[in-house]
Amino acid sequence: MRIGIPRETLEDQPLVAATPDTVRKLLKLGYEVVVERGAGERASYLDAAYADAGAEIVGEEVWQSDIVTTLDTPPRETREKMLPGAVLISRMAPGRNPELIDELKEHRLTALAMDAVPRISRAQSMDVLSSMANIAGYRAVIEAASNFGRLFTGQVTAAGKVPPANVYVIGAGVAGLAAIGTANSMGAIVKATDLRPEAAEQVESMGAEFVAIPAKTEKSEDGYAKEMTADQAKAAAELYARQSAEADIVITTANIPGRKAPVLLTAADVQNMKPGSVIVDMAAANGGNCELTKPGEVYQTENGVTIVGHTDLAGRLPGQASQLYGQNIVNLMKLVTPQKDGVMMLDFEDTIVRGITVTFAHDGEADVLWPPPP
Ligand code: NAD
Repeated sequence: MRIGIPRETLEDQPLVAATPDTVRKLLKLGYEVVVERGAGERASYLDAAYADAGAEIVGEEVWQSDIVTTLDTPPRETREKMLPGAVLISRMAPGRNPELIDELKEHRLTALAMDAVPRISRAQSMDVLSSMANIAGYRAVIEAASNFGRLFTGQVTAAGKVPPANVYVIGAGVAGLAAIGTANSMGAIVKATDLRPEAAEQVESMGAEFVAIPAKTEKSEDGYAKEMTADQAKAAAELYARQSAEADIVITTANIPGRKAPVLLTAADVQNMKPGSVIVDMAAANGGNCELTKPGEVYQTENGVTIVGHTDLAGRLPGQASQLYGQNIVNLMKLVTPQKDGVMMLDFEDTIVRGITVTFAHDGEADVLWPPPP
């Protein structure tokens, strides 16, 4: 079968779904690979490198491949170039896009949602949400450092002592842990809080201090945070306010899937922060964890706090982010190509395959398989 790698349709999407390295791995699984001209240039992967890896460089016909893989689901007019019965692999947010599901069925496509990979250990190597969160967490610290007018690391110099920066991370999931590790390696003193008490061990193993919410929070069973009771929420709000007032850098990463991000820092909390301090709100795209965040903008408040509301943190490291996304795709293709013969086989007895299949095309029709059974 032929896999097509188009240039992403959204102009502000610099990533690409395969790199020359991952093209080689797809070829080893027995597939042919075609790459649309210029597909990787925004991530510094040039056509010549894809050709060297063994891909054919093509134009619009990339959309006529048996399998098309992208970062974002292409808009309808682009998707219509795909052949009925073909497979689309991309991020789809199927839980929030019932209209898209209807269109995929009507178009008779098989659609696999990379953002619906179940949270089980075996699926980790295909989990694009984790790959992107990891890159974004690293980049959040780089953005913080470039907006902070001081050093991260402490120094003793002939001209005097420089104190290390204090970094406070709220939410120690994949992004938060990446931010903790990065800030720690740059010499900052790092503290972190998470609703999930089980995050303490991971936070400490990354070299940070875990600051627990002084009210009982429940252990999560599915890896996602539970909603807080009123008492917990009050204790947490007081903790965030106190820690932020002491910190130089605050990085917020709290998300509850499918909902608007919870507000953890109010305008009054920001008012109590030190001039020169920086907030990087990693939930900006989802409404923001800080009441004053302006999604997509960086600005300074009247009391001198810089609030970074970038919504494209992973996209700011497009080379690495594309490589990880591409490797997630390769890992999925390994799972669905057991014979390494370039033929995709979807085994719906497999929890991962079943979990990501939104629609399935067969015999000139397509069935909706979303949502998967619990
Ligand atoms: P996420 O993006 O859902 O949320 C970020 C973090 O913020 C979470 O740790 C969450 O507990 C925390 N949080 C949410 N609201 C908060 C609040 N009000 N105050 C403080 N903290 C708050 O999380 P994530 O990065 O996807 O990871 C969550 C967990 O799931 C981690 O333990 C991760 O290792 C695990 N995980 C497992 C797999 C897998 O096994 N395949 C894949 C992804 C994540």
